[in-house]
Amino acid sequence: PREVRLVSRPVGWPTHDDFELVASEVPELAEGQVRVRNVVMSVDPYMRGRMSAATSYAAPYELGEAMQGGAVGVVEESRADGITVGDHVLHGLGWREVAVLDGSAVRVVDVTAAPASAYLGILGMTGLTAYAGLTRVAALQEGDTVFVSGAAGAVGGAVGQVARALGASRVIGSAGTPEKVRHVVEDLGFDAAFNYKDGPVSAQLREAAPDGIDVYFDNVGGEHLEAAIGSLRLHGRVAVCGMISVYNDTEPAPGPRNLARLIQTRGRIEGFLVGDHYDLAREYAGKAAGWLADGTISLRETSVDGIEHAVDAFLGVLRGENTGKMVVGL
Ligand code: NDP
Repeated sequence: PREVRLVSRPVGWPTHDDFELVASEVPELAEGQVRVRNVVMSVDPYMRGRMSAATSYAAPYELGEAMQGGAVGVVEESRADGITVGDHVLHGLGWREVAVLDGSAVRVVDVTAAPASAYLGILGMTGLTAYAGLTRVAALQEGDTVFVSGAAGAVGGAVGQVARALGASRVIGSAGTPEKVRHVVEDLGFDAAFNYKDGPVSAQLREAAPDGIDVYFDNVGGEHLEAAIGSLRLHGRVAVCGMISVYNDTEPAPGPRNLARLIQTRGRIEGFLVGDHYDLAREYAGKAAGWLADGTISLRETSVDGIEHAVDAFLGVLRGENTGKMVVGL
């Protein structure tokens, strides 16, 4: 089997030279362990942070070692109680074709209820990010107008659909291509969307939400954040989930110039990490299963096949080549 290792720390945009695809050693199982053949793995923007030496919220990847990330695979051999050969399990050792883990580090998932990849997206970390950010951080209220950037992406698409399911009256999104804008409105049911590359975000947002917004779910940062602050209504809330527009910057980007608007609006900006909100996972999973079954939320993903294309898939996410969750089939 093969694995992808990080061999140098990218400065600015990562390149193929920062990674190596090599044959991996698969150790004998110790008591309590399982061996898993991965069938699908996740590539996520946060992985860019882990490629740098500075500790952000997740520990940096070690140079010369396989990277890590969400994956679902089939158990090939088990010495762990309660886990049987043939089970599908969700775990954190992606970026390799075969993983050996403690039984306590995997969770059995039901692939008859949803495809394996859904547990990396709408039924997994991505969906929970949308739900926790909306309910806890943005304190979404019925009747709110919600704006989300990265709206055709994994988290953003979930945000729009979940916000609507929770009673938002108007949901607006931004994305980077005309086809994504169409997808967000026609397939995901947003009330309005615009292409942030077509002109200033502030003017396009004002046109889409003439009366302002109550909630901004930020996936992008930069110009989007400033525009959203400019459109905040009284007691508006900004949930800072991600700032993908700066992840490859080598110099800190300037901040929003209009923070003083937070005074008159009594506005609030709060960052969050999904990892702090796993106590909501069960509540969310129950709701999400119902929403998927009745069509309130729909699943969209972009899939790339083969571990040899995993780096391309990761770079593709940073460049916007995905619609919905980007996954790699192994
Ligand atoms: P997405 O599926 O949304 O993929 C990233 C998207 O970002 C791309 O498709 C691209 O779409 C868009 N993008 C890239 N560069 C820019 C730019 N300069 N300006 C605007 N948009 C850009 O990824 P995820 O759903 O996995 O993640 C979305 C955000 O949520 C990320 O910022 C991520 O770091 C964050 N996140 C945070 C978590 C937390 O716990 N706080 C947990 C999970 C994710 P387009 O074509 O529209 O430009």
